[in-house]
Amino acid sequence: MPEPSVSFPLRHVTTPNPTELQHKHWRELDAELPSVCVVHGAPGTWTFKLYLSSHPYVPYDDLSLPRKILHDFLRPSARRKRSEYRRSRKIWVKTRWPGCSACRQYRRERRALSLVLVSLTAYLITGPISPLTEWMPADLRSSLHLFGFFLIVPAAKSLGSRLDLSRATVPENGTDLVVRNPHTDFAREALTLGARQQSERVSPPGWWKRSALR
Ligand SMILES: [Zn+2]
Repeated sequence: MPEPSVSFPLRHVTTPNPTELQHKHWRELDAELPSVCVVHGAPGTWTFKLYLSSHPYVPYDDLSLPRKILHDFLRPSARRKRSEYRRSRKIWVKTRWPGCSACRQYRRERRALSLVLVSLTAYLITGPISPLTEWMPADLRSSLHLFGFFLIVPAAKSLGSRLDLSRATVPENGTDLVVRNPHTDFAREALTLGARQQSERVSPPGWWKRSALR
């Protein structure tokens, strides 16, 4: 099911901050963000800073995973060109979001989860040579790192919770900042502050995020 979203207009950076003006791709919000948090619609008691950027499209994005791997293998130099192209078109926005006590609790739990996942991954990957695994049978010990490799992606993904708490993305054209499926109280206040209801609906985030953010 697609979910509703609101978008905040962006403008070119006008504040005389020399470090930011060096980047021609910087934008800033042209409207105020609501005083309630995105996820729970509760009054913000603290704020968090978040740098958001667009993800410029390249045809490579449409390839299936096996074809991406094949493509990377056959044309390793294309990867650098792709990242240069993306970097030259990326739009950056510095934002500050309100968070409530439930947001803080969520962030705390995510940090604990990250710590467990990252430690476990490190333990498994270094398993074959680590003194901590000497008690294991040799067969199991020598293959521990294989299990560790499976955990690298979930461990890395678990590190950031701020994107989950803002639900914000910057579309490629860089004219708006889109907040997907915000709490109704956040959306209502956003509309009074100059945000627009998105006519085109966006697809929802993955089930693992939704279940954690109810
Ligand atoms: Zn909250």
